Amino acid sequence: MILRGIGASEGIGIGKAVCIREQKLDYSMVHYGGKNVEKSRLQDALARFEEKTNRMAQRLSAQVGSKEAQILTGQIMMLNDPFMQSQMQDAIEAGQCAEAAVDQVCTLYAEMFAGVDDELMRQRASDVRDIRTRMLAILLNSGGMDISELPAGSVLVAHELTPSMTVGLKKENVVAIVTKTGGRTSHSAILARAMELPAVLQVRKGTEQIKDGDSLIVDGSEGIIQLNPDQQTLSQYLKKQAEFAHQKARLNVYRDKETVDAEGRHFSLYANIGSVTEAQTALQAGAEGIGLFRTEFLFMDRQNSPSELEQYEAYLAVSRTMAGKEVIIRTLDVGGDKAVDYLGMEREENPFLGHRAIRYCLDRPDLYKVQLRALLRAGAEQKNIKIMLPLVTSLEEVRQAKRLLECCKQELEAEKLPYDKEMPLGIMVETPAAALIADLLAQECDFFSIGTNDLTQYVMAVDRGNARVENLYTPFHPAVLRLLAQIIQAAAKAQIPVGICGEAAANPGLIPLLLTFGVDEFSVSVASVLATRAHIHQWRASEAQAVSQEAMGLSTAAGIEGYLYSAAKR
Ligand code: PEP
Ligand code: MG
Repeated sequence: MILRGIGASEGIGIGKAVCIREQKLDYSMVHYGGKNVEKSRLQDALARFEEKTNRMAQRLSAQVGSKEAQILTGQIMMLNDPFMQSQMQDAIEAGQCAEAAVDQVCTLYAEMFAGVDDELMRQRASDVRDIRTRMLAILLNSGGMDISELPAGSVLVAHELTPSMTVGLKKENVVAIVTKTGGRTSHSAILARAMELPAVLQVRKGTEQIKDGDSLIVDGSEGIIQLNPDQQTLSQYLKKQAEFAHQKARLNVYRDKETVDAEGRHFSLYANIGSVTEAQTALQAGAEGIGLFRTEFLFMDRQNSPSELEQYEAYLAVSRTMAGKEVIIRTLDVGGDKAVDYLGMEREENPFLGHRAIRYCLDRPDLYKVQLRALLRAGAEQKNIKIMLPLVTSLEEVRQAKRLLECCKQELEAEKLPYDKEMPLGIMVETPAAALIADLLAQECDFFSIGTNDLTQYVMAVDRGNARVENLYTPFHPAVLRLLAQIIQAAAKAQIPVGICGEAAANPGLIPLLLTFGVDEFSVSVASVLATRAHIHQWRASEAQAVSQEAMGLSTAAGIEGYLYSAAKR
């Protein structure tokens, strides 16, 4: 039987199910001992909670890293919040025992956080539920299940994996994690990835069917669980598991290496991210910076646009995570296939050619200035943020955006708010118009980043999401490749750095061409960082040059692709 969820941590785990049932924390038999007694029981429990949590954080810090340990110390801060504390005291004053006070206040907070349309807030709900369970266990003297004692080869199956549960995990005993709730950016997912344990989360239907001792295969790359698989499936997955381990071991060697070609020439290797939490994953994956932060994701799945403060906090968090490294933040790239309902964008016949991205933003200075101000302010501390404009087609757009940016600077100056006065401004080169006037644009920009996803779509006149014309959507077409070479040349002539942040940056076939054309920076999805570094390492400039020359002499996409794959180094 196959169950499906979200693949939240890559890899394949094969083992026996251990189902973690909710702990029974019944306090109906507890007598109210009077205000003073209950208050002192609560104080004792708080002190023990703090002591236990600090111990767990130290263990986690040693096992995984200090960033992950902060998730736990954050729980102590949360529980010590004066308002939360006073609500617990009030409940005791009103005649509740310490258990009821903790239960009621934590449940209230968890519901409040869970109702907010924001991933980070929802994670807090999970933290408060964890605090509730652990505080009740302390008050009731209930040991609960000791996860650190699980037998080797266990697959943990739980409703939710709380950070404190994760700490008890021993990598030598647990081979995978399956939960009913939790998203890719939930703390459980972050920790699972940090511990490199395959995890499938949000298995909404079917976790009830898993019983203790069932055989499970957890494919964290595909988000699939095989429940009691037959022999044939098992051997298929054993093979897949071995391949994965082999591949990982091979690539891991590159985690702390510099990104250089075979002769030591250096390139920057950055990651593309869509959320604040992904910046941490990028760093752990060996990224040397952020080449594209798709900020439109901050605007999605909610009822109204994020405030200046909320955006400022998000950009600052990424900037701090990447301290000492560059962070290129793209301004709102809405429209096309990325709809944001509350922005009131009209339905259009051809949304990819319509009122979107920079076009929309320049017509909504009220909205755009909020983002620009947030960016300028967030850059004040680390001075590592660069602003990038999407879908540029003309010089006027760049100039208009610069005027708005100037206006924001003057406002911040008048308000005496700190901001980065020298924040660089660059553009995505992702339209044929921008590519063809790259020499002119380079005079007015601090950097370029080539968006091959859109560039290919517009050059080839192929909707990048339309499966019927998928065969025509290829960056190997000589038209796309000639434009790439031209854009990179224009940047070099103007002496501005040029990166590439479309999917093509991670395409092994294209790497010798990009090296030869003179790209300074590759920005790829987090999962592709190490593989891209490994590919770059393989090439000598002269070999890449010869392959590039041969490829550019061919006249069809199929011919070029076939040749480049045969020439690619494995
Ligand atoms: C691109 O167009 O190549 C790009 C990186 O941006 P997006 O995929 O977000 O359009
Ligand atoms: Mg794009």
